[in-house]
Amino acid sequence: MNKIQAAELRWEADTPVSGQFDDIYFNQDGGLAETRHVFLDGNRLAERFGAPEGAHFTVAETGFGTGLNFLCARALWLERAPQDARLHFISVEKFPLSREDLARALAHWPGFRDGGEQLLAQYPPPVAGFHRLVLDEGRIVLTLMLGDAIDRYRELEARVDAWFLDGFAPSKNPDMWQPELFGQMARLSHAGTTLATFTAAGFVRRGLQAVGFEMEKVPGFGRKREMLRGQHRVAATTPSAAPWFDSPTPAGRPGSALILGGGLAGCSAARALAERGIRVQLLEQSAELASGGSGNRQGALYAKLPVRPTKQGLLHSTGLHYSHHLLERLVPDDQWSACGLLQLATGDREAQRQQQLADEALYPDELVRAVSPDEATSLAGLPVHLSGLFFPLGGWVSPPAFCRSLVDHPLIELHTGCRIGSLGRSAGRWQATTDGGRPFESEVVVVATAGAARTLEQLGHLPLKSIRGQVSHAPCPAGVPALATVVCGDGYISPPLEGQYAFGATFDLHDDSRALRPEDHQRNLDTLAAALPELAGALADSPAGGRVGFRCSTPDYLPIVGPAPVYERFVEDYGRLRQDRKWPFDRAPTHHPGLYISVGHGSKGLLTCPLGAELLAGMICNEPLPLGRELVEALSPARFIIKNLIRGSI
Ligand code: SAM
Repeated sequence: MNKIQAAELRWEADTPVSGQFDDIYFNQDGGLAETRHVFLDGNRLAERFGAPEGAHFTVAETGFGTGLNFLCARALWLERAPQDARLHFISVEKFPLSREDLARALAHWPGFRDGGEQLLAQYPPPVAGFHRLVLDEGRIVLTLMLGDAIDRYRELEARVDAWFLDGFAPSKNPDMWQPELFGQMARLSHAGTTLATFTAAGFVRRGLQAVGFEMEKVPGFGRKREMLRGQHRVAATTPSAAPWFDSPTPAGRPGSALILGGGLAGCSAARALAERGIRVQLLEQSAELASGGSGNRQGALYAKLPVRPTKQGLLHSTGLHYSHHLLERLVPDDQWSACGLLQLATGDREAQRQQQLADEALYPDELVRAVSPDEATSLAGLPVHLSGLFFPLGGWVSPPAFCRSLVDHPLIELHTGCRIGSLGRSAGRWQATTDGGRPFESEVVVVATAGAARTLEQLGHLPLKSIRGQVSHAPCPAGVPALATVVCGDGYISPPLEGQYAFGATFDLHDDSRALRPEDHQRNLDTLAAALPELAGALADSPAGGRVGFRCSTPDYLPIVGPAPVYERFVEDYGRLRQDRKWPFDRAPTHHPGLYISVGHGSKGLLTCPLGAELLAGMICNEPLPLGRELVEALSPARFIIKNLIRGSI
């Protein structure tokens, strides 16, 4: 199930009370003071925020509720922490408040209006999984995991500095206060990680002691006599079930990075690293950014959501939310439109699929809702004869404009006309040399050159394929109202940009022709006619132009994002998988140190490149990852080597 159940609230004189747990979210009189006493003081955060050990600090919480603890921690961080450091706040929520309830609860705290507004603006739809929100120009990053605390913490990859062990009272919520949760907390802690909780229950204290926390009882807040706080004393090492997918642990945040490729993948990675204070040099072989697969005039922000949960569906819904808010933050209004997206049921199979999605209410309306032809007509501003799905978070953007906005950062230096011929490493640094012999050097390299990644000696093993796509351009026909939302059927069309429509696209494997073909334009018109016949008819007489691009895709249609494995070492170290997939391997994987990859985003780069960049930045800077372990593994560059070993094909 993708959609998760919302909190059932009742309000008792403006205090929110949980129907599921029959307990209050916060104490109306002393709520703020209680949070400060229990969680902030219990973890000594005023002092620690003022002098964080590294460039970031990570707080993790159980039970996000109304976000009061989060907003208190944010306020303290903004007051105390250095300007260039970031607070990662991770929380989990099984029954998220509706947006309306959240707004009502936050109205209690006028002092937190600014943080509350940012939270509400990005509050995710109630879909199980991870959601990343960026506040205060990146000084605060909230990873809100929706679902059960034990399930979500099991998937998290992070190094937590302080725990807020909240959640309703153990007597009212015994399912959460389990040894398994404490075990996960220990896995994510280091020697020196602290924790605080409002409860003084003996089994909680003993459970936490059993996993390595040194616990003490201290005076509680108000009428509560005691509470618990603790400190982790041992460095946790939990063997991983699939060690080949473990990310290397970097020594510290690198000072410099080289990004190869100036498309969406490269520009997103450059931005994510620059926002973390890393000096970035971005090398692009063409004279301009976004000259390859990311170069279309307009791209649709478009997630195709499956009827049964799949990794791709999860990645797309997570990416849709993340990219939407990144676009809101960075791209000017005339180059990005949050106009929503209609996916029309252009065939019987698609109609059945959409019906099932609607009947089973698999996703919340905030993410996608079924619409009749009449509703679709009023959304599109043009006659629509088919039913469909409407994605309010969808829209269109000019990918080249998006790329330019991404690299508009003082720490990013752009070098166009630089094609890297070779990449080598010596004395702990990477050296890249352009075809013209110009040298570049850095600690970290991110390869984001789509199919050309294979030309690098280290990455020749990546199974990438190229898929030709021709997009058509045509001026808006006179006398026909302009389309008001993106419309997809088997193809897509966006509302006009500067008086031109862009629609397409063809999809051809094994075709490397860059020439525009009239027959492909006709195919685009035919595809459009199945969705919007009147508009297609009007466009058929217009003088047409277009563009040919090549999507870089992978055998499983998921992008490749993560550290670069040393192919020969993987084959040697995990060769036993050919005979026995259950063999208890204890060998950590060998990666090219500091070499990372982001390629194979296919036609979904607008959804997956920004989130992929955030994932890489997390790995490179040892920050909490924005995706759960299942997706981290699904995107791992090593997955094909492992699959091929298991299959016995290498
Ligand atoms: N920290 C919150 C705040 O600042 O508003 C208050 C938390 S409220 C007292 C407890 C929260 O824990 C509720 O929102 C509840 O739905 C959530 N919760 C309870 N059991 C859970 C579980 N097993 N997994 C995730 N969340 C859970």
